[in-house]
Amino acid sequence: MLTRALRRSALTAAAAKRFKSVLTLSSTVSSYPKSHTEAGAEPYLTPSFVNNKLIKSDSTEWFDIHDPATNSVVSKVPQSTPEELEEAIAAAEAAFPIWKEYSIIKRQGIAFKFVQLLRENMDRIASVIVLEQGKTFVDAQGDVLRGLQVAEAACNITNDLKGETLEVATDMETKMIREPLGVIGSICPFNFPAMVPLWSLPLVLVTGNTAVVKPSERVPGAAMIIAELVAEAGVPPGVLNIVHGKHATVNKLIEDPRIKALTFVGGDKAGKYIYEKGTSLGKRVQANLGAKNHLVVLPDANKEQFVNAVNGAAFGAAGQRCMAISVLVTVGKTKEWLADVARDAKLLNVGSGFDPKSDLGPLINPGSLEKAHDILDESVKQGAKILLDGRGYKPADPKFAKGNFLAPTIITNVGPGIRAYDEEIFAPVLAVVNVETIDEAIELINKNKYGNGVSIFTSSGSSAQYFTKRIDVGQVGVNVPIPVPLPMFSFTGSRGSFLGDLNFYGKAGVTFLTKPKTITSSWKSNTIDNQILKPSTSMPVQQ
Ligand code: NAD
Repeated sequence: MLTRALRRSALTAAAAKRFKSVLTLSSTVSSYPKSHTEAGAEPYLTPSFVNNKLIKSDSTEWFDIHDPATNSVVSKVPQSTPEELEEAIAAAEAAFPIWKEYSIIKRQGIAFKFVQLLRENMDRIASVIVLEQGKTFVDAQGDVLRGLQVAEAACNITNDLKGETLEVATDMETKMIREPLGVIGSICPFNFPAMVPLWSLPLVLVTGNTAVVKPSERVPGAAMIIAELVAEAGVPPGVLNIVHGKHATVNKLIEDPRIKALTFVGGDKAGKYIYEKGTSLGKRVQANLGAKNHLVVLPDANKEQFVNAVNGAAFGAAGQRCMAISVLVTVGKTKEWLADVARDAKLLNVGSGFDPKSDLGPLINPGSLEKAHDILDESVKQGAKILLDGRGYKPADPKFAKGNFLAPTIITNVGPGIRAYDEEIFAPVLAVVNVETIDEAIELINKNKYGNGVSIFTSSGSSAQYFTKRIDVGQVGVNVPIPVPLPMFSFTGSRGSFLGDLNFYGKAGVTFLTKPKTITSSWKSNTIDNQILKPSTSMPVQQ
């Protein structure tokens, strides 16, 4: 058996070898893909990022990354080896005391630079998102922008991290400061390759923590560019590290005692597992899970505004947004407006994310397409009706014949007990429920297990107020279909859509990533009362 020292030197030798195989990214700020890779092109090998270096993994296990519009393999991502995971966590642990000692002004300056670099590299990041994830280029720019806004808000850390001070007795004051936790592990989903890593990373950095991030193994490209920009902004080596893979990587992040907190965004199964295991090991965990978001339309709503909003929110990003509207609740006569919704949904262009005419792209993989088909088929057997059928859609260009396309689909006659209502489909499928009153709509939504987002369309302030007070969902929109607040607030999904106590970003995000410390100091003035020079063995009795 290797001794600890021997093991360490074996590791260092392995690391030295790997550092020789440093890689570069496949794009630069001025040169990045603007169309789909030709089939048969050599797949790009996604590097890991440790100590500010892009490193080629020694892994023997590599996963293919497919372009969802063509299903050609565009790149490969490794299952990081146990040694590489160890190296990344050790780098983050070693960098923590150094980074923590950077003054807040210095960390803020780096954050400003990072924001500028993100802005300059927005199109480059959007391009890799289109290739790996499939969404349209303009929507991919939005993916970067929403993350960039978190980074902008993080620049306010000099205000957000201000402590509290109070003179609690004569010549005695208590101050409360918040200190970083240490190494933070982040596990990300496929649907927002830039935004979700950026939901936590900027705050992790400005609060003085260090990070080990695992992007989704389906879309690692955006996170790699972000890592390069973090280093360029001036963050010292080891502060941000990126590892790859599936369960083995996640398990290491959960189990390693050097990781103090976990941020997770993804589906219910992984989220519950990570939350339960992480908290049982004493870690802080914030976990955003699945969703089923309802849009309620009242008869006094502006019809045109509603029709545009529901189509954009249900079918944009091919429905692969955690805040996509997946259920429309028509109240009373607004069920007649469904024909208008279907008419406009049919006009949406489905195709390549690089085609500026496309309104939505493909689903992430054939499995997601098959799942959507299964749910639709079974819901029909359960009594649902398909009003608009997007199944079997193929873009005109034969280059995309093998893509995972599903055109906008509307399914009616659904409700609790029907799969299309009960399950998150994560596809451009809108399930429609008709009710007669606002109270019925509220009851339906409050009984749903999820609580990520909800929206009401109405021209009545009092109806809106009645609804917002009674609805039990974390993010509520009034005439706003996707009510995600800007990052000076937090992402406040609730009930089955969130596990933890402190949400991502905003004040809650800063609290999650820091721990309080109080320091009580006594500096006596020169006129010292003789009495207090005697030792006191009892608790003070006078205030
Ligand atoms: P996913 O749960 O399959 O994967 C998320 C991450 O967890 C990935 O990095 C993956 O490698 C890892 N993972 C997956 N299964 C695991 C397991 N059994 N054990 C350990 N790790 C595991 O999610 P996804 O398909 O990438 O993303 C889509 C889901 O994310 C949807 O359910 C969507 O609603 C949800 N999502 C939620 C929010 C939110 O804010 N509530 C935001 C974005 C996405």
